[in-house]
Amino acid sequence: MIWSKDETLSRDELEKLQTKRLKETVARVYGAVPFYKKRFEELGLVPQDIKSIHDISKLPLTKKQDLRDNYPFGLFAVEQDAVVRIHSSSGTTGKPTVVGYTKSDMDVWNEVMARCYTMSGVNSEDTVHNAYGYGLFTGGLGLHDGAQTVGAAVVPSSGGFTSRQLLLMKDFGSTVLASTPSFALHLAEVALKEGYDIKKDFKLKCGIFGAEPTSEGLKEEVAKVWGVEYYEIYGMSEIIGPGVSNSCKEHNGLHIFEDHFYPEIIDSKTGEVLPYGEKGELVITSLTKQAFPIIRYRTGDITSLDQTPCRCGRTHVRMKSVMGRADDMLIVNGVNVFPSQVEHVLANVEEITLNYQIIADKKGYLDSLEIMVEVNDQMPMDSIGALENLKKKIQSELLNNLYINAKIKLVEPRSIERSMGKAVRVIDKRGK
Ligand SMILES: [Zn+2]
Repeated sequence: MIWSKDETLSRDELEKLQTKRLKETVARVYGAVPFYKKRFEELGLVPQDIKSIHDISKLPLTKKQDLRDNYPFGLFAVEQDAVVRIHSSSGTTGKPTVVGYTKSDMDVWNEVMARCYTMSGVNSEDTVHNAYGYGLFTGGLGLHDGAQTVGAAVVPSSGGFTSRQLLLMKDFGSTVLASTPSFALHLAEVALKEGYDIKKDFKLKCGIFGAEPTSEGLKEEVAKVWGVEYYEIYGMSEIIGPGVSNSCKEHNGLHIFEDHFYPEIIDSKTGEVLPYGEKGELVITSLTKQAFPIIRYRTGDITSLDQTPCRCGRTHVRMKSVMGRADDMLIVNGVNVFPSQVEHVLANVEEITLNYQIIADKKGYLDSLEIMVEVNDQMPMDSIGALENLKKKIQSELLNNLYINAKIKLVEPRSIERSMGKAVRVIDKRGK
């Protein structure tokens, strides 16, 4: 089943709709968001220069830093009284990224999430066990509202409490698991340890997995251990949250809902637009958002696009699973971690130097994060109490500012290995 007829529009119809919506979006941000007006003027652009969707490449690109610079509501295009929801993602002190939604934006979000669920074969007969994190992140609530939109029963379990989650999944007869792939594997591992017979005790038929880069091998493992069909979901709060794209039953890529989100692929070094099929950085323009419209947002995700017809009947372009990042962002258990933000937090701790190393690894199926930090020359390395207090201090700073749960290892001054005089900042041991 296909949720909306807009998923099957001919390319001609779709382009007409995209053109109309792009013109409206450009006029709206030009009129209501000084940041965009200034950027347009710098390029000598006025809204009338955008005559069709193909003119989109004339518009300026927007970066994550632009969101931080306009904290909190500088990029909002509506008055405060029209906003019904605000989400925020982690950032250094005082500078998280903030996004807002009007009632009509919430309708769009529910609509695209309903499309994702329908694409994954989920309907009103299903019970969705939603283990994405609830709160300021868009994951939990996005999957939650979408499940209700298709009429499914949703169990808002959020993360953590693995044993209780398993008990509820079994007793409620949940048919759909929504979580990060690594949490799905962690759940399975604990289930086996606790003596569950996975195929007999649980009724899961499919899973909607996302929020972290996942190798084909890991996807197969998740599908096999749970005996489910693996559907992949993609999104980010800057665009809307989860629900930008989802894989269909053909499993040949993720359909991007092009009537709401216009995708391009660019060369991340030059900013030049690349033809479909070529690998590069995904850039997305929102076409219908009111509170927080976004023009040519650089997602940082590396992928490619495929416009050939899909056997499922949907005409929307498909993106490949994300192949990597254009920047140095790490994703640790679904949370985005930028080394520059970690550095910003460490810079506020007096007793250490800025020589540090971030080590991402796997502990069982979950990611683990260790940060090795050199203390300064004044720090007594023989005082266990002082070192423990310092560790706790750094840990709580990272947790409070970036929502990162990291193990801290304090080491002697000048002991972290340097390469060409600089410490290697990030070591990712998780492999592929
Ligand atoms: Zn399809």
